[in-house]
This record gives sequence, C-alpha cells and structure tokens, in this order.
Amino acid sequence: MSNLEARPRETPCGGRAAAAVEPVRDLHHGNAVALGGPRALTVTRTLPNRDRRMVGAWCFADSFGPDRIGPGEPAGMQVPPHPHIGLQTVSWLVAGEVVHRDSLGSEQLITPGGLNLMTAGLGIAHSERSVTRRSPVLHGVQLWTALPDRHRQVEPHFEHHSTLPVLTDGGLTLTVLMGEIGGHAAPARIYSPMLGAEAAMAAGASARLPLDPDWEYAVLALAGTSRVDDVPLGPGPLLYLGRGRRELAVDADGPARLLLLGGEPFDENIVMWWNFVGRDHDDIVAARADWTSGSARFPAVPGDPDDRLPAPPMPTVRLRPRGPRR
Ligand code: MN
Repeated sequence: MSNLEARPRETPCGGRAAAAVEPVRDLHHGNAVALGGPRALTVTRTLPNRDRRMVGAWCFADSFGPDRIGPGEPAGMQVPPHPHIGLQTVSWLVAGEVVHRDSLGSEQLITPGGLNLMTAGLGIAHSERSVTRRSPVLHGVQLWTALPDRHRQVEPHFEHHSTLPVLTDGGLTLTVLMGEIGGHAAPARIYSPMLGAEAAMAAGASARLPLDPDWEYAVLALAGTSRVDDVPLGPGPLLYLGRGRRELAVDADGPARLLLLGGEPFDENIVMWWNFVGRDHDDIVAARADWTSGSARFPAVPGDPDDRLPAPPMPTVRLRPRGPRR
C-alpha cells in the first residue's frame, strides 16, 4: 500500500507526551482516501488522524473492503512500484489476494491468515496488486510501524508468516500478528515493544484480553459489531484506549473481527511525508531525491509491469517535527 496523495502534507508525530496516561475511549473517525485512478480502491485511513497520529509504534492504518473487484468492477489494489524508508508495512487480509513484489526480488501472494511484513529500513521499493482471478472480494488492512532511531537504517528485508500463534477461548480466536500477548509471541521481527493481534469472535463471545498497563492500545473493527470496553464498535473508526489497563473486555453480539494494536508509547518525534518516515526535513529530501534520480538505494521491482510512481513535489515550507498533537 502506498500513500498516493498528490500533495501529501507533512505529519509530525510521536513523543511519549502524546500517549494518554489513563484509560480512555476515544473514537477517531478515518478519512476516505482514493488509492489510484478512476477505478481506485477507496480506503479508510484512521492513522495518522487529525487528533491522534500514533499508537505505540503504529503510525499508519488503512482499512479497505469488503469490496467486489474484477472485470466490470473496480480493479482493487493496483499500486505500482513506490519507495519506503524508516518503517515496516504490515499487510493482513480478511478476504482476497494481493501480490507483493519488492526490490529485493521478493514475490509473495498474500492471502487471508498470512502476515506480510516488509521492513524498509534504509530503503526499499515495492508494488501491491490485487489478483481477481480466484477471489472477487478484497477486504483487509495495511498498517505501518515506525522504526525507532537506532534501527531505522537496518537493511531492508521481507517476511511472510503463514503460521501464526493462535489462542482460542470459547468463541474467541486470537491470532498474534506482531509481538506477544498472553505468553504467545508472533515470529515477525519487531523493533520496539508492540502488539498486533486479530480477535475473531463468534456470536455471543465474551472475553477479557490481557493488556500491559504501561502500553497504549487501540482497536479497529474489521467486521461485525461488537462492544469494546462497552463501546459499540463496527468497521470504520479507530477506538483509542489509552494506557493503564490490565485487560480489555470484548463482547460480540454477532460474528465479529477486531484488530488490537498496541505498544510502548513511541518516545521519538518523527516526520511522515508521502511514503517516508524520517526524523527531519533533510531525511525526507534525501529519500525523495534518491527515488527521483533512480539511485541504487531504491532498485527496480522485478516482475512489476508498470512504471514507478513519481514522488509528489515537496511542500514549499521546511518539514519539521512539531508537537505530537494538534
Ligand atoms: Mn507501500
């Protein structure tokens, strides 16, 4: 997934002061963002949000679908080669199939239940394309985590995990995507203390999920309507929960799926612009120049049929990490 905005604004974020120290229940509505041209995929972007830009290291959250795609329908996700630095992309599908290709030569079919994790580090390019031949519906999320300063220059790498830890409890099936919960750790490589987990619930399921009171958390509903700490939550908004909780009550009236995101509050200010996470204006200018000039920092993506995405123009003002909240 890419940020395809023609004139992206700088997004300074991060800093421990931005994390609520108390349990809260703040509903953050997302923005509808069109990815691509007239047959675009419309996603709901809940991070960064007007009021909240990060949850732990999680700094970007796009959810999409369920949408019908294919002949006579929208083309789904069709994102040509584009660059990333300083972040990880985390792809998780509920339905459909997407082919990931990157400049390391990786080619991976992403299917429901498998975790796709691309660590950009110093720099990588990738493309993501829906496959409509076998699956007419696309439904899922793409998330980014910001790499902490001491790790943001790591060599780029790609991971696909088709086997993930699964905990079941009554009508709850909890799949651990990133980090650890209840003593079950996902195999994905992470660079700061964080959690990503999917809770699939049968109708009538009721559970208490164990949380770390020093971490902040949020929940995104992928399907169905459930109650999260008694807040009715359906697909769309992000429910920010703050810190100071040892557990989280989740109750499903009908079948429902929730994505639980959390982590240690990210104690660094970052600058997000287009598909880059840096620390200051010069990081972004350098990455943009390297992409535009065809530098070896961002090699070609083998097997992708399209031209690379051009970088948008830089804003006329200097990007600077300002306060973490508006
Ligand atoms: Mn991308």
